[in-house]
Amino acid sequence: MKRGFCYLLLACCLTMCWNVVAAQKKAGPYVLVIHGGAGTILKKNMSPEMEEAYKASLKRALEKGYGVLKNGGSSLDAVEATVRVLEDDSLFNAGKGAVFTHEGRNEMDAAIMNGKTRAAGAVAGVTVIKNPISAARAVMEKSEHVMMIGPGAEKFAKEAGLEIVDPSYFRTESRWKSLQKALKEDSLASARSNAYTNPGKLGIINKDNKFGTVGAVALDKQGNLAAATSTGGMTNKKYGRVGDSPVIGAGTYANNNTVAVSCTGWGEYYIRNVVAYDLSALMEYKGLSVQDAGKTVIKKVGDMGGDGGLIALDKNGNMAMPFNTEGMYRGTVTKDGKMEVLIYK
Ligand code: ASP
Repeated sequence: MKRGFCYLLLACCLTMCWNVVAAQKKAGPYVLVIHGGAGTILKKNMSPEMEEAYKASLKRALEKGYGVLKNGGSSLDAVEATVRVLEDDSLFNAGKGAVFTHEGRNEMDAAIMNGKTRAAGAVAGVTVIKNPISAARAVMEKSEHVMMIGPGAEKFAKEAGLEIVDPSYFRTESRWKSLQKALKEDSLASARSNAYTNPGKLGIINKDNKFGTVGAVALDKQGNLAAATSTGGMTNKKYGRVGDSPVIGAGTYANNNTVAVSCTGWGEYYIRNVVAYDLSALMEYKGLSVQDAGKTVIKKVGDMGGDGGLIALDKNGNMAMPFNTEGMYRGTVTKDGKMEVLIYK
């Protein structure tokens, strides 16, 4: 009798454990995935306070976007709201806290895309728009264009009623110090080389001089996907340089038939590999899963000498967050509100 009871108890425990494991495996579908940049992010270089600050900030952004989606808002509203939180946070290389160009300016790029209509909007090289992601959305919804740049984009954003700030708003001491360091490395490198070994190169972009581009991809209750990316680009970038983030199909892409993607990394490689669209095409034409397509495109970037990562969310709520750097600030939230924030490999 006693033995029978023990067996029964054991069976109950095993069933409970099995259910917990099954529930964990079933986690999802994911509704919002975010990143805050990829790079040489090592635990040994991070103080516990900094780590906490990054995690708290990523959580704040996830909460904002999740709130929009939970209340039946569109994925487009969710990605814009999420990216705005990260743009306003000086920890990230987007909006306030953007990195400095070679000339000591903050020049920002951003893009947004609606997976349902494949409408897209982007701005590049903007210096006074407080939230470049909202300017990208305005270009998408209030103009007949997809991309606007520099003073023209700024004029348009002002006319669209967006908040305009003094360029000094974006300045942070840590990013300024990063530029000074990069300039020093730059002059040392050019002293060592000559016109033959370094032909026509206007300085050097060190691949470690970029972290903290931000991005979000979301799936709403109506089954629509959207993607958004915002960045200050790369420290010490040259005049007029535009990265992959605002280039539709390179750093940002969304298509309800396949996937929403936001990239981060060495932009030149992402443009040359048309990474975000390539990921979508691998799913559409080759039938790859979002994870396999994600791995494939990051490998292509790596094989060419580039580095970085991306976030991708498919129409069924499956997600991937591949990267070939030491770390990538990232976070997810599933339908039931379960959040996860990660930094290292
Ligand atoms: N992809 C961005 C750029 O090249 C930088 C980054 O994501 O870190 O402008």
